Amino acid sequence: ALTTGIVGLPNVGKSTLFNAITQAGAESANYPFCTIDPNVGIVEVPDARLQTLTEMVDPEKTVPTAFEFTDIAGIVEGASKGEGLGNKFLSHIREVDAISHVVRCFQDENVTHVSGSVDPIRDIQVINLELILADLETVEKRIGKVEKLAKSKDKEAIAELAVLQKLQAAFEDEMPARSVDFTKEEKKIVKGFQLLTEKPVLYAANVSEEEILDADSNPYVQKVKEFAEAENSEVIVVCAKIESELAELEGEEKQEFLDDLGIEEPGLDQLIRAAYQLLGLDTYFTAGKQEVRAWTIRRGTKAPQAAGVIHTDFERGFIRAEVVSYEDLTGAGSMNKAKEAGNVRLEGKEYVVQDGDVVHFRFNV
Ligand code: GDP
Repeated sequence: ALTTGIVGLPNVGKSTLFNAITQAGAESANYPFCTIDPNVGIVEVPDARLQTLTEMVDPEKTVPTAFEFTDIAGIVEGASKGEGLGNKFLSHIREVDAISHVVRCFQDENVTHVSGSVDPIRDIQVINLELILADLETVEKRIGKVEKLAKSKDKEAIAELAVLQKLQAAFEDEMPARSVDFTKEEKKIVKGFQLLTEKPVLYAANVSEEEILDADSNPYVQKVKEFAEAENSEVIVVCAKIESELAELEGEEKQEFLDDLGIEEPGLDQLIRAAYQLLGLDTYFTAGKQEVRAWTIRRGTKAPQAAGVIHTDFERGFIRAEVVSYEDLTGAGSMNKAKEAGNVRLEGKEYVVQDGDVVHFRFNV
């Protein structure tokens, strides 16, 4: 399964946020494909469309889709040189598909800052630099191998060397691979290197309880936003402390707490959705009397493989998919009315499932 790794310096609110994620507690029985590991938190993806479909179909149960966050502890300066748990930290990062980087933007005299003061850009750079140095080593090793081939006029080697040198220059300027503009062909070559700084990053600016409603007035948040834009990354604002309190509440109590604070949507929900986007994931739905359910696919997945997310038999025996878009279905008001309106299509093996499709698979057992 695709996963987002949570990283950050000590005392920035990582554990607080991760605990909020695990406490919000997706029922793991619903998600047998997810990893069972204390460092992995399963989160349900908040999706208002699921509620609308539930009201329309009135099923016995409703199941949101879910994905994983991995808590990656142990970053220290010098990780790329193997200091502390450095190597372990880097190998954990290698395994995740995207990174949520928690950055401290809150002031609190009672919480020590490892470097003595709040300075999110410096903090971001400490971690990024370790990853950049690790990538620089990867790239330089590869240059050593490819250079000779390039000299003997090997076309592929020449193309690869050019990409490697572009990366090397970026890393020497302390810029991550994701900030470099590459052509489509070059991107394919870059993918092969499995670089740490090529992974998409979402910065989670952790602000104080007082600032959550007006986060833009926090100058640190502004700086993080500018920094992120320059390297093609995104930012969301959270207050880890509020999220951990929210995670202990449910239903009406939770709503009351949100109303009291004047918050429309928990930061955690925004974080989850942003991470889902970052991973390149889409959602499709199945909507039967027994169960209305959301399913996760990688953007661009074709119908048989999308069916395989439900069950491997569905993929193997795939015949066709009956598909209607969420908008058409809810606009019509029921599946029958959508059919009458001609909005339900029969799609075959080559159909690329779209975000929001409501699908009924036909298959041979
Ligand atoms: P980690 O080392 O990055 O995992 O940081 P923790 O989650 O353990 O947080 C370190 C300390 O900061 C704890 O005492 C938290 O209660 C506190 N903390 C975390 N988030 C916030 C926040 O949003 N506001 C305030 N005031 N304190 C926070």
